[in-house]
Amino acid sequence: MPREFPVPEPLHAHGPARVIAVCNQKGGVGKTTSTINMGAALAGYGRRVLVVDLDPQGALSAGLGVASHQLDRTIYNLMLERSTQIGDVLVPTKVPGMDLLPANIDLSAAEVQLINEVGREQTLGRALRPVLHAYDYILIDCQPSLGLLTVNALACSSAVVMPVAAEYFALRGVALLIDTISKVQERINPDLAIDGILVTLYDGRTVHSRDVVATLVDQFGETVYDTVISRTVKFPETSVAGEPILTYAPDSPASQAYLQLAREMISRKPA
Ligand code: ADP
Ligand code: MG
Repeated sequence: MPREFPVPEPLHAHGPARVIAVCNQKGGVGKTTSTINMGAALAGYGRRVLVVDLDPQGALSAGLGVASHQLDRTIYNLMLERSTQIGDVLVPTKVPGMDLLPANIDLSAAEVQLINEVGREQTLGRALRPVLHAYDYILIDCQPSLGLLTVNALACSSAVVMPVAAEYFALRGVALLIDTISKVQERINPDLAIDGILVTLYDGRTVHSRDVVATLVDQFGETVYDTVISRTVKFPETSVAGEPILTYAPDSPASQAYLQLAREMISRKPA
């Protein structure tokens, strides 16, 4: 039986933000979907949320209905130009209490350009610092790689949420990701910890899906969230609609699952 997590108390003051990297070097495991919907669920519980698109594909921005390819300034300018301030780039979303730092294909040049910067791993952290007090959560949607952009996310986060698809091959990458997280912890950011492993794309009808969860729990114990995100056709529909499932289909089991995840995250570490 899944545990119940209490509905969090309302907050009377906001910040400083808990910065969380949503990270897995494998694509298609639900990083972007989870960032959008964790963000919307946390905002639904009265938390102020900033979601950060750190993938040049811009799927997070698109998933929130922002046509980022038309924007003059994105997170790329914020990270690489001293003349761009965070306020020039932030955009509100349709979710009350949730803002977005958008990205587009420009960001694909950042990885190479950052190599020559002083303090290159801390670039994102420096960019976010002025707004840390304005939010309760900053969720960073990482690209599917362990390159310099992802290291920037890990360097300024205190926690990692690791979406893992309930598929056999998904398990292979987990050890590599944990190894990268340990290296960042040792060398750059001792505060970094894995908050949790989030099982996504779960299909309870298959033995296979259940086996993957059992293996994860065997290896990682309590690090695996009780909340599991099932596979549902609703998610691809929400990407087209450009909104979170919490507003697109609020009564769906998938919305309830992300609300439960938000409660579980808050009960693990109150904010
Ligand atoms: P990532 O950011 O890790 O590449 P996405 O969140 O973009 O992964 O998800 C990849 C694809 O899978 C998208 O088309 C998305 O709509 C779909 N998807 C994500 N989560 C689910 C789910 N629980 N059930 C069904 N489809 C999903
Ligand atoms: Mg993505």
